[in-house]
Amino acid sequence: MRRSRYLLNTLKETPKEAVVVSHQLMLRTGMIKQLASGIYTYMPFGLRAIRKVERIVREELDRAGCIELLMPSVQPAELWEESGRWKDYGKELLRIYDRKDNAFCYGPTHEEVVTDVVRREVRSYKELPLNLYQIQTKFRDEMRPRFGLMRGREFIMKDAYSFDVDDTACDASYWLMFDAYKRIFERCGLEFRPVEADSGAIGGSFTHEFHVLASSGEDQILSCNHCDYAANVERCEVVEPSPSSPETANEPIKVATPGQKTIEQVAEFLGVTAKDCVKTLLVKRDSDMLVLALRGDRTLNEAAVKAAFNLPVLEMVGEDEARALGLVPGYLAPMGLDPSLKVVVDPEVLAMTEAVVGANEEDRHVKGVCPAVHFDAHQVMTLREAEAGETCPRCREGILESWRGIEVGQVFKLGLKYSTSLGATYLDDQGKSQPMVMGCYGIGITRTVAAAIEQNHDENGIIWPAQIAPFHVALLNLDPEDEQVSAAADSIYSALGKRGVEVLHDDSTERPGFKFKDADLLGFPIQVVLGKRSLNQGLVDLKMRRTNEKRSIALAECVDAAVDALRELGWE
Ligand code: ATP
Ligand code: MG
Repeated sequence: MRRSRYLLNTLKETPKEAVVVSHQLMLRTGMIKQLASGIYTYMPFGLRAIRKVERIVREELDRAGCIELLMPSVQPAELWEESGRWKDYGKELLRIYDRKDNAFCYGPTHEEVVTDVVRREVRSYKELPLNLYQIQTKFRDEMRPRFGLMRGREFIMKDAYSFDVDDTACDASYWLMFDAYKRIFERCGLEFRPVEADSGAIGGSFTHEFHVLASSGEDQILSCNHCDYAANVERCEVVEPSPSSPETANEPIKVATPGQKTIEQVAEFLGVTAKDCVKTLLVKRDSDMLVLALRGDRTLNEAAVKAAFNLPVLEMVGEDEARALGLVPGYLAPMGLDPSLKVVVDPEVLAMTEAVVGANEEDRHVKGVCPAVHFDAHQVMTLREAEAGETCPRCREGILESWRGIEVGQVFKLGLKYSTSLGATYLDDQGKSQPMVMGCYGIGITRTVAAAIEQNHDENGIIWPAQIAPFHVALLNLDPEDEQVSAAADSIYSALGKRGVEVLHDDSTERPGFKFKDADLLGFPIQVVLGKRSLNQGLVDLKMRRTNEKRSIALAECVDAAVDALRELGWE
């Protein structure tokens, strides 16, 4: 492709609206153009990277025995009513109405549709296992679309769905996909981790997320430095201490703490640390509330609470609401409360012997509390998030390290949720009807491209992993008006093309300095540079984008050299 004939306009300045690197660089390289909030046109240069990721995904899924199909993006509401999600999915579901006022949605995911396909097509256990996938545009009306392709409203996803005869067979399908995902992200040239993740409120299921490691990631991941345990912080287990024994209990002492409401204020006022205090939180539940108690220095694991109590969202009880119930926000403690309030206590709290807690009255706290003795705990469960530096919950030898990650994919064992609600059954070898056991598997194609940039860039621009680079080589003709140079450039272009190398031939009349900067920004793994002066000596220059290494090479050898260099970079 000739640069002069291509639709590709780069920007010198970083657009102000972009805060993360991938968004900035995608805008500067003209890969994407915003049409509306979270909705982008994939411009030709950007689309090439997207297609590369798609190709790797297809090859690996086909290899794993999955079968591609393409389902409609517009889906009838009835199907979603059958699964119960028309009501449950909330505002992220874009609901639309046709001319007859029939309700539809634009698919954010396809469990309903694929289950409908399979319940109509599959009859016998002999037709299972089955794994169907598609690569398609999804729409989710995200509350805060941001960071360009990282969290769009319209985005491209690969979604796959497995159907099996039983739980064991479903596990096998799951791990097959797990391995396929590992190969996909390896082939994309990304540094990633599969991590144990929160499966939300669906019982009996489990899930892994695949995270690309990058400092801008929205998720926190903890991984062991000794074994291969890694988990999203939402899901990470902790090693719990034993509860303190009642013998250690002293008589608590009430103290005045006027105006001291937050843990930090109370700790400072009483000359203790946050670790010595107990934090008491009130969380809304249908008609009542939960009273949660965790150590003052800890962070509440919201996902764990939502899953344990089946809460679609976690909402704190407001100050006025609490007061209306006779509670004293800022001075709460799970002691002597109305017994109808469910008190849930973190095990770590029960190991404390001399805790500072609220006194359930204005401007007063209590010192020297032994929660194992003095608290009314109805339930004990881990309420806190794990932190870096803790002992690994799996091997109990290593230490947890913290990373930021971008979730590019997820594998999810669904179990019977959709096959039961939508009636996807098969006849077993006894002729008995059984529900199919399902798994679902997503990869954010467009997010993967963004994550690749987050992980592979420097101050000059993108550094594409060779496998997903829109073009492998930038051919920079510094003297396009010189016939000899142009002829040499043309012959290199076609020779590289014959070897399967994709080349963007910069034949424009821009200054050399501009061309170098532009090629760096666009991130081609390799630049081949031709100018009158070096060509007179029979030489061309080869530059490696990542290392900035430059070599002068004889014209006749430059195609081989470029191909070899690409192979070293992982190009297949
Ligand atoms: P998130 O927690 O980031 O909102 P999710 O867990 O809801 O994502 P899934 O339903 O697991 O997403 O979708 C499968 C994949 O689709 C995700 O792993 C992610 O890579 C991608 N994805 C999800 N939402 C978006 C989005 N708004 N923009 C771009 N990609 C997305
Ligand atoms: Mg997910």
